Amino acid sequence: MSDCIFCKIVEGKIPAKKVYEDEDILAFNDINPARPVHVLVIPKKHITSLATVVAEDTAVLGKMLAKANEIATAQGSPDGFRVLINTGRIGNQEVPHLHLHIVGGPEPVGPMLKRI
Ligand code: AMP
Ligand code: ZN
Repeated sequence: MSDCIFCKIVEGKIPAKKVYEDEDILAFNDINPARPVHVLVIPKKHITSLATVVAEDTAVLGKMLAKANEIATAQGSPDGFRVLINTGRIGNQEVPHLHLHIVGGPEPVGPMLKRI
């Protein structure tokens, strides 16, 4: 996807602070961190969102989750963390390349959603 900012990060055309990389996935610091630890984990292959995954994506999705604890621990959140995947319009997804947020740090991240 030539106009996708996260594909451009994969291709090295946009800089990012990479914290983990293998042949299938890339993790980098969020440019606007919501917590002291805020890492985005993406598939290197362009997948738009959880709403567009196909059966062949199962392995990479599993890898993104399976690596989360290792990434969080290495980045300074060894006692737990939260993962989030915003999806589509209702999920307020801003970047249309599937990404898993890892948020954490030394303090608990708080309630899952603000109560209204
Ligand atoms: P979402 O609302 O789930 O689509 O989240 C998109 C996230 O991408 C936001 O937390 C942004 O701060 C982050 N983001 C956008 N552009 C970049 C970038 N170039 N490098 C790192 N993070 C980015
Ligand atoms: Zn992309």
